[in-house]
Amino acid sequence: LANRMFHPEDTVIEVGGIRIGGNEKIVVIGGPCAVENKEMILNLAHEVKEAGAVMLRGGAYKPRTSPYSFQGMRTEGILAMVEAREQTGLPIVTELMGEAQIDEFERYVDIIQIGARNMQNFELLKEVGRRTSKPILLKRGFSNTIDEWIMSAEYIMANGNPNVIFCERGIRTFETETRNTLDLSVIPIIKEKTHLPIIIDPSHATGDWKLVEAASLAAIAAGADGLIIEVHDNPECALSDGAQCLKPKKFKQLVDKARKIANVL
Ligand code: PEP
Ligand code: MN
Repeated sequence: LANRMFHPEDTVIEVGGIRIGGNEKIVVIGGPCAVENKEMILNLAHEVKEAGAVMLRGGAYKPRTSPYSFQGMRTEGILAMVEAREQTGLPIVTELMGEAQIDEFERYVDIIQIGARNMQNFELLKEVGRRTSKPILLKRGFSNTIDEWIMSAEYIMANGNPNVIFCERGIRTFETETRNTLDLSVIPIIKEKTHLPIIIDPSHATGDWKLVEAASLAAIAAGADGLIIEVHDNPECALSDGAQCLKPKKFKQLVDKARKIANVL
């Protein structure tokens, strides 16, 4: 179902008036790694909008390596995201970790993220295929091949939800200088093999805010349909992923440059 051979035209996925894929404008999604409290997400929602983002990200259910790290605000975090959407009009993107949250996400969320750690959680993929038609942002697993990633999209589509957006977020390699290694070659490959949109997450791919702009601009030059970027007002104090978060001012500069590159393509 994802195969370009049987569906030559690009699929464009529409969310709250924003179109992702095809030759539409690039879609920039900004926001914190995690919703830390209501005030913080409301402020950031206004700031990323001001900077040019057209959607808001923010994790409420967080997949943390350690069970002793901040796990997210769960339902309270989702409701804070909903309030941020009411105030700004920005559609919201947040990660779904388990089947138990599908109804909640169906009710409140605009784009449902399936994180890298769940890319091959096949039962979860089947359930989001069956139980929601909200667009699914399917991140690539740390160590998954492109064909495995496409098959995960196929699980969602074969179970009834055709609205899949790929998201490259870096893969594990021998390199330790960056958190992950950004694989830009996937952009033309996904576009050749499938008709679905692909966006890039330069924040998790690099793990270092200083590298986020270069990775973003390269991704847009390579033909990505958009970017999802972590932004925080006070990265030093972030409860997760502070080292890779941009401050709103730097985020705005990046968005302006990315749009310039997109305009000449
Ligand atoms: C995230 O987007 O906050 C996240 C946990 O991403 P990934 O699944 O790519 O690690
Ligand atoms: Mn994060």
